[in-house]
Amino acid sequence: MGVFDHTQYVSMTMEFRCNLKCVHCMIEDTMDRLAPQTQAQLQALCANNLIHRKWKGLILTGSEITLHRDLPEWVHMARSSGFEKIRIQTHGMRLGSADYCAELVDAGVNEFFISVAAADAETHDGITTVHGSFDKTLRGLEILDRTPGVVTITNTVVTERSYRQLPELVARLAHLRQLAQMEFWFYFPMSEQDDKGLVASHMAALPYLKQAIADARVSGRGIEVKNFPECLLGSDGAMLHNDQPELYIDDAFWVEFMRNGFYQCVHRARCASKQCLGLNTAYIRKFGWHESELSPVSGAVRAQTPVLPRG
Ligand code: SF4
Repeated sequence: MGVFDHTQYVSMTMEFRCNLKCVHCMIEDTMDRLAPQTQAQLQALCANNLIHRKWKGLILTGSEITLHRDLPEWVHMARSSGFEKIRIQTHGMRLGSADYCAELVDAGVNEFFISVAAADAETHDGITTVHGSFDKTLRGLEILDRTPGVVTITNTVVTERSYRQLPELVARLAHLRQLAQMEFWFYFPMSEQDDKGLVASHMAALPYLKQAIADARVSGRGIEVKNFPECLLGSDGAMLHNDQPELYIDDAFWVEFMRNGFYQCVHRARCASKQCLGLNTAYIRKFGWHESELSPVSGAVRAQTPVLPRG
């Protein structure tokens, strides 16, 4: 299960540039059009939270937040406004610099949510399309692992190119003592079809996912799985967490997001899951409805709110 309470966090999308070009990027067609939240909006949120204390944690995110030179200043402002937890979501390349890690930690970042695309440099760099990206990201994770007072979280977008490596990835990161949680986000294309051939079959991915969950559990990690049928997870059903912190993002994002067509399942009317997103349009067009493989869940009571793609 996850170890973080999403209701205690708020996300601000502050940067839409990126210096990777991941094949699975879910906003590559829109990042030029999406407007980040402004510094004034961030200041207003901090000022409001100082009074009302609605959230304990602030997540600074976007395509690649470390590209913004004002990030340390924003972090300092947020910590001064009473946020106890400051998390950045990043592909981790800049964290390969010990000086930059120290600058962020000194400013007040204490949670680092880092994208790791695969278990080895060749596969990871093939997905990010930038040679050397795996080594920098791993170096960043290891630097932070030696830094008192911070925790790390990894997220892996699970695609046709990465699902077979999930157990290997858990093993590759097993030496990290401050890795609090591993997240496995099943890819959706922000479109009605899988033009890039990246959507992985749930049936094919399931044994790799179950093994990764079991191994991560042995290492004491929190685990979150996103966009996967709850019923297929069986005894690991509690690992499905599609809820997210409240998110501030350009409204135009949601227009694209709705194209996914979540919540489709032939068993939906009889299923008690409050967390499952069912299948989406691109998945069904590629793999069908899995009528006989899926089965209604009984007695699930967990709440569900929309998922935000994070590459
Ligand atoms: S039956 Fe459908 S809605 Fe229910 S858990 Fe399975 S995929 Fe999700």
